[in-house]
Amino acid sequence: MKYETGLQVDMYQHKTIIPGKNENDGDPMQMAGKVEELREIISRSKRIVFFGGAGVSTASGIPDFRSETGLFAQEENGLSPEMILSKSFFYLQPEKFFDFWRKHMLHPEAGPNAVHRYLYELEKQDRLRGIVTQNIDGLHRQAGNIRVYELHGNVNDNYCMECNAAYPAEAILQSEGIPRCECGGVIRPNVVLYGEPLEKYVCIGARREITNADTLIVAGTSLTVEPAASFTEDFAGKNLIVINRMPTKADERATLLIRGDVAEVFSGLSRE
Ligand SMILES: [Zn+2]
Repeated sequence: MKYETGLQVDMYQHKTIIPGKNENDGDPMQMAGKVEELREIISRSKRIVFFGGAGVSTASGIPDFRSETGLFAQEENGLSPEMILSKSFFYLQPEKFFDFWRKHMLHPEAGPNAVHRYLYELEKQDRLRGIVTQNIDGLHRQAGNIRVYELHGNVNDNYCMECNAAYPAEAILQSEGIPRCECGGVIRPNVVLYGEPLEKYVCIGARREITNADTLIVAGTSLTVEPAASFTEDFAGKNLIVINRMPTKADERATLLIRGDVAEVFSGLSRE
């Protein structure tokens, strides 16, 4: 674990705590109060945008490969996940790339959790304008949401690099070595690898929704991956809510800061 100067680390809960005026310190009473405050804000908002990261999916059993406690904290054969999931590695060592992909990136058993389900209800009520996600698991779509901007793509969306034929995740999961199309081309996931640019139209849509939002909920992300993280700076609305176990770049701008697990917060919201 890496500790930064000025931060206190709770060795029992493995949580990093920054002292501050709107810090809930893990106090359950204070947490309940913050969940109520969030409920209030949501009920007053008409154009909510949710910006989420890996912390949204961990309650669905999908580990965060960037977090310190994540399964991939230790390197594989001396290679970090970021190196394996890069454009150059994909082209230079496709077999190893797909081994890693099948082993760590595909979670067919995972389903939507309290966060996904709550956001689906909000979209049905026409108060959620969009979900901007850095996750590639496709769980927001699986929950039923339509207005989803998947900045880094979706593992369920795969295509042949020769003929463009579409393939489900199973085509990769059930393959061995390098997955091949009927035409002989390589089937690749339609996800953004490290070193590749984001899809322009997805970015434009996501930024437009964030710019026009009255409430932005940033959750389950420390905002360390660019350029996605900087999109939150487009927000000019009233309520910036940050929910994360660890400090984030947006903490200082937050009007409501909840230091905790996003799925726990949304489970609390779901209880009447
Ligand atoms: Zn093909």
